[in-house]
Amino acid sequence: MTAETISPNPRAQKDGVPHWNYQPDTPLAVSPLFEWPLNPLKIMNWFIRSWFPISEKLIIVFAAWLSWTYFQPPLDVSKNFAFDWIGLMWLRNFVLMMIFAGGLHLYLYVFRFQKDRRRYDSKRFGKGRPYTFRDQVLDNMFWTIVSGVTIWTGYEALLIWGFANGYLEVMEWAQNPIWFVAIFLIVPVWETFYFYIVHRWLHWKPLYKIAHHVHHRNTNVGPWSGLSMHPIEHLIFLGSVLVHWIILSHPIHVLYHLQYFALSAVTTHCGYNSIAGKRRKIISLGTFHHQMHHRFIHCNYGGLEIPIDKFVGTFHDGTVEAHAKLKEHMRAKAREIRQKKG
Ligand SMILES: [Zn+2]
Ligand SMILES: [Zn+2]
Repeated sequence: MTAETISPNPRAQKDGVPHWNYQPDTPLAVSPLFEWPLNPLKIMNWFIRSWFPISEKLIIVFAAWLSWTYFQPPLDVSKNFAFDWIGLMWLRNFVLMMIFAGGLHLYLYVFRFQKDRRRYDSKRFGKGRPYTFRDQVLDNMFWTIVSGVTIWTGYEALLIWGFANGYLEVMEWAQNPIWFVAIFLIVPVWETFYFYIVHRWLHWKPLYKIAHHVHHRNTNVGPWSGLSMHPIEHLIFLGSVLVHWIILSHPIHVLYHLQYFALSAVTTHCGYNSIAGKRRKIISLGTFHHQMHHRFIHCNYGGLEIPIDKFVGTFHDGTVEAHAKLKEHMRAKAREIRQKKG
């Protein structure tokens, strides 16, 4: 599979302002949950729009339900770690990844059904160094499948083994239906908090050099870039699911938690703001704040649900002013490094 794009001079900067092929409305909005005074109507609206009428979140809930109902080996065969049931889970996760990342890559970059409509950066995917196999798409597929899907399955198997042996209690729907539903709603919010913390840590120089640089090879991103990470980063990022060891949950929550982390990484990195017809958006996908993180690196470490970047001054909201601030920050950092050296 190759990805070819057409726009000439896609990354030119005019007057120090970066050019994007497509830019959503700026300044980017963050969750109104952290605005004062609280506006319940705005919060409700933000929340409903992030789930309905159709969203990646709803699709992933459906994928988790399908996985649990039809494609999960029964708990009583999962009491001992064995290749058969874990292999089946690996295969299921591989198929899910092929549907999400492979499907989006084919739709957006091979058949180009949407051309460059709502595509953030029309720069071609990279060739040559530093990519594994000297090809960005092959590099991204390799790290996603070999390391990503395997570590995702490993965590899943560990928790399923815990449920099967009674180390973890299986919460039933009737036991607490509100908590049962709430976990589905909390995971995406938790993800933006957890992601900020571990991602900021991954930018610590030694860890960046060992692990996170693999993800940052991608200055422009596509669906296969989302989970294209070094195994150490997979262990840290997907390790979020271990929280189910201490909170009461059902195995479907574990499947959903990992599928949300793995598959929404695919959609948020797809390089397009949304799947859209000529006039109307059908479903939101790629996030502009994270697209900027890949291009500018020193901003937007987290998400918009719990906008820690905004609290600590690293938020790039897409405006010219925010970009000037980032450049000033970069100059100050460079001066600091020069002074330390000299
Ligand atoms: Zn990063
Ligand atoms: Zn990324």
